[in-house]
Amino acid sequence: MKMWIDGRWADSTAAQVIEVTDPATAEVLDTVPAGTPDDVARAVAAARAAFAAWRQVTAVERAQMLHGAAAKMREHFDELARLLTLEEGKPLPENEEEVDWSLNTLDYYAELGRHIRGRVIPSPDAGQLSLVLKEPYGVVGCIVPWNYPLLLLLWKIAPALAAGNTVVVKPASLAPLTTLRMVEVAFDHFPPGVVNVVTGRGGVVGDALVTHPDVPVIAFTGSTAVGQRIARLTAGRMKKLHLELGGKDPFVIADDAPLEAAVEALAYAALINAGQVCTSTERVYVPRAMLPQFAEALAERVGRLRLGPGIEPTTDVGPMIGAAERAKVEEHVAEAVARGARVLAGGRRPPHLARGAYYEPTVLVDVDHTMAIMRDETFGPTIPIMAYDTFDEAIALANDTEYGLGACLYTHDARKVRRFYEEVRAGTIWINDPLTDNYAGPFGGMKMSGLGRELGVEGLEEFWQTKHVHWDMEGGIKDYWYPYGEK
Ligand code: NAD
Repeated sequence: MKMWIDGRWADSTAAQVIEVTDPATAEVLDTVPAGTPDDVARAVAAARAAFAAWRQVTAVERAQMLHGAAAKMREHFDELARLLTLEEGKPLPENEEEVDWSLNTLDYYAELGRHIRGRVIPSPDAGQLSLVLKEPYGVVGCIVPWNYPLLLLLWKIAPALAAGNTVVVKPASLAPLTTLRMVEVAFDHFPPGVVNVVTGRGGVVGDALVTHPDVPVIAFTGSTAVGQRIARLTAGRMKKLHLELGGKDPFVIADDAPLEAAVEALAYAALINAGQVCTSTERVYVPRAMLPQFAEALAERVGRLRLGPGIEPTTDVGPMIGAAERAKVEEHVAEAVARGARVLAGGRRPPHLARGAYYEPTVLVDVDHTMAIMRDETFGPTIPIMAYDTFDEAIALANDTEYGLGACLYTHDARKVRRFYEEVRAGTIWINDPLTDNYAGPFGGMKMSGLGRELGVEGLEEFWQTKHVHWDMEGGIKDYWYPYGEK
């Protein structure tokens, strides 16, 4: 495929291409250009030129175009979900949900964008008007990872466009194909230059976009390490940064939790997309007396999940995105076992699936916070379970992390629920229904998990800058002007 610049397919100035492979089979699906800083400059120039007119388009017309994009995505629903499955690997039902959530994000921000423009505030004196105006920034650089390439992109471009900005997108090199196809089929009615896509490596295309002087906003989802790099690279220009970074989400099971429901909830929270979700449950805390029975039930449940290519209808858990990502999971499990952890399920590559980057869903007990698997982001299908004695201790363990993205609790005890949401430092708290998104519910991280929020009104505000207008309609001479003390 090519790149999408100024409303049409564009050749890259690069001679090289990037191969995009199916993680289930390691077969090459297609290639995309390994873009260059020149390509980024062309895309930014197109986006900058388009901004002058796009910011003047009425909010109602912008809403119609965003709804139009959602409608076209609906027409291409099956095609987009299948292509996403082939390049990303997670099971088809999960990709159908991703396409559905993505197009609904367009509909949500189409409406929100035409609902607000700012507010009128009380003025200091009579005969004055004071406005708080919300204005677009200009060109927004959007950089997204491979795990939810459409959804995380739409969480950025839907509000950014609704707010009157134009965008230059850098998709992940591991999964750029569905993004290109979506822009081709669903955004072709936007004025040229409003939406642009430049494919390529993070260190080349990403860096060029981040440092470009005509890109005042960077909206990034990815690892904390790259987020920190972006913050360093942009410090000199005071760019607006919107950073959705890594996590190490805890799941606390309370002593009143019904065993079967809690086990099912946890299996889903830890294993959806083979554990490659920023808010995947990565560590679990269970009351000491309950732990043996709970862990055994979980191991049994997890052992029955069906591994396979995401495109097959019987698959529960697909492959991981690649061998390098699987190697990190293997390292975490090996280190934990070397320090005394016990594997109750999984802990290996499935022998019958040799071609893709598969790893069996893995349940571990006898873990503690000295182990990397309880501290660092694993980003794979692992469920390490640690015992706790009191709810105070469970909360302290949940907070014992540099991250603060999400946190889950299973209980019907209202006092525990309240303590959990008041005391746990995380951007999203899920009680009994883990990992559910809500278009109106702001999503993002505390601590090292990032800056800013996506979704909800907050997700639109990120792409507006605020201007205060003070207007004295009478225009008389004020008694507080010079000279002092003579009026
Ligand atoms: P990554 O940080 O390696 O890459 C993310 C994107 O940044 C990719 O498009 C990549 O090409 C680009 N990039 C890499 N180096 C860059 C640079 N120097 N300058 C600019 N861009 C650069 O992350 P990944 O492996 O693709 O995704 C997994 C990570 O994303 C995990 O840490 C996960 O927690 C995080 N994530 C966070 C959220 C969230 O909402 N908080 C959601 C999904 C994933």
